[in-house]
Amino acid sequence: MHDVAIVGAGPVGATLALALRGGDLDVVVGDARAAGETVRADRTLALSHGARLIFERLGIWAPLAATDGAVTPIVTIDVSQARGFGAVQLTAAEHGLPALGYVVSYRALQRVLDDALARAGIGVRFGAPARAVTGSADAATVDIAGSEEPVRARLAVVADGAASSVPDIARRRHDYRQAAIVASVALDHPHGGIAYELFTFDGPVALLPERDHYALVWTRTPADAAALLALPEPAFLAALAGHFGSRVRGFTRASNRRSFPLSLEVARNTTARRIAVIGNAAQALHPIAGQGFNLGMRDAYDLARTILDTPREALGSDAMLARYRARRVLDRRAGIAFTHGLVQLFGNDRPWLRVPRGAGMMLLDAVPFAKRAFGRAMLFGMR
Ligand SMILES: Cc1cc2nc3c(=O)[nH]c(=O)nc-3n(C[C@H](O)[C@H](O)[C@H](O)COP(=O)(O)OP(=O)(O)OC[C@H]3O[C@@H](n4cnc5c(N)ncnc54)[C@H](O)[C@@H]3O)c2cc1C
Repeated sequence: MHDVAIVGAGPVGATLALALRGGDLDVVVGDARAAGETVRADRTLALSHGARLIFERLGIWAPLAATDGAVTPIVTIDVSQARGFGAVQLTAAEHGLPALGYVVSYRALQRVLDDALARAGIGVRFGAPARAVTGSADAATVDIAGSEEPVRARLAVVADGAASSVPDIARRRHDYRQAAIVASVALDHPHGGIAYELFTFDGPVALLPERDHYALVWTRTPADAAALLALPEPAFLAALAGHFGSRVRGFTRASNRRSFPLSLEVARNTTARRIAVIGNAAQALHPIAGQGFNLGMRDAYDLARTILDTPREALGSDAMLARYRARRVLDRRAGIAFTHGLVQLFGNDRPWLRVPRGAGMMLLDAVPFAKRAFGRAMLFGMR
């Protein structure tokens, strides 16, 4: 029997496996994808400064930062609302940091993590989709499609992005009835590391600096999103420029336009008998605040610390799983509530909310303590 079986070697599962290195544990990792394969269309991940610190400790940051075009620093975040007053500017300098966060290519990150796993001698079993992960008093069992031999471990960690293989973990789903349009957008001037988040009547829109252009995340109703995607490029750019008004000017190009539906999916429990779920399998959030991926990183890191603090024979025990839940409960709840609250507050067209929203932003900008607290939460999470 293995000590730990990790289902899914995406960014979160791979981070956990790397954090367990050197712990003298027998760890097995499986992933449904083929070796070397990653997401079909690249994603831009918003990495917080706290996630960078985790990658630094695991020796991932240096190869990632050295990969051409993989990492773009965000030095300023400009938050404002259309047709309302109030704006907040967070800067790296006021937090004494080189950057507030980073825009990272999912594909590049996955390649660096795959290489790091191989270098660390952690063999990932690729092409091994888990069909069911179940727990009993003495072991967790991972059934793999196409394999007669199930994997048994004291603890199974599910990091498959959807918890689809864990019958004992129910997920709550809230459909925002919104879609995110994502695209690469160019301006006629350098981005200078400034990220924009604009709250509009139709929902939030973000521009994240990425290499020599911006990554756009534009929240709309599904019908609007379909109509915008069908527009020729000049008309799409005109609609975008109209949306940003005077805040951002000079849109020249939009490529790789696509959209995906937005929902909040939260596992009711992050543990079941001999099982823990982490990353997107535990919570998949609206991208409005860039919190989802960073919460997943912290799940992985805190679970690794809990595992390494636990004697081998107690791995996967109720007591160990309770310690893990206690470690994560505050940060997880706050991250979910913060993101969901922002969507409720800013993701709608109720004019009576405009004044409190504007006042909130002006206050944040004017009160150094409130602004620092807000910035800290965005950078490091809420513990
Ligand atoms: C369509 C989409 C677009 C997104 N866009 C953005 C964005 O623009 N910005 C942003 O910050 N975040 C974005 N996210 C969220 C971001 O991708 C996640 O926060 C992040 O990928 C979570 O990492 P993870 O390792 O938990 O899960 P994933 O990245 O989903 O990794 C899961 C891994 O598990 C493997 N797997 C799946 N099923 C099984 C199985 N049954 N058995 C074994 N292995 C399995 C997969 O092959 C994969 O390697 C997006 C998410 C989605 C779904």
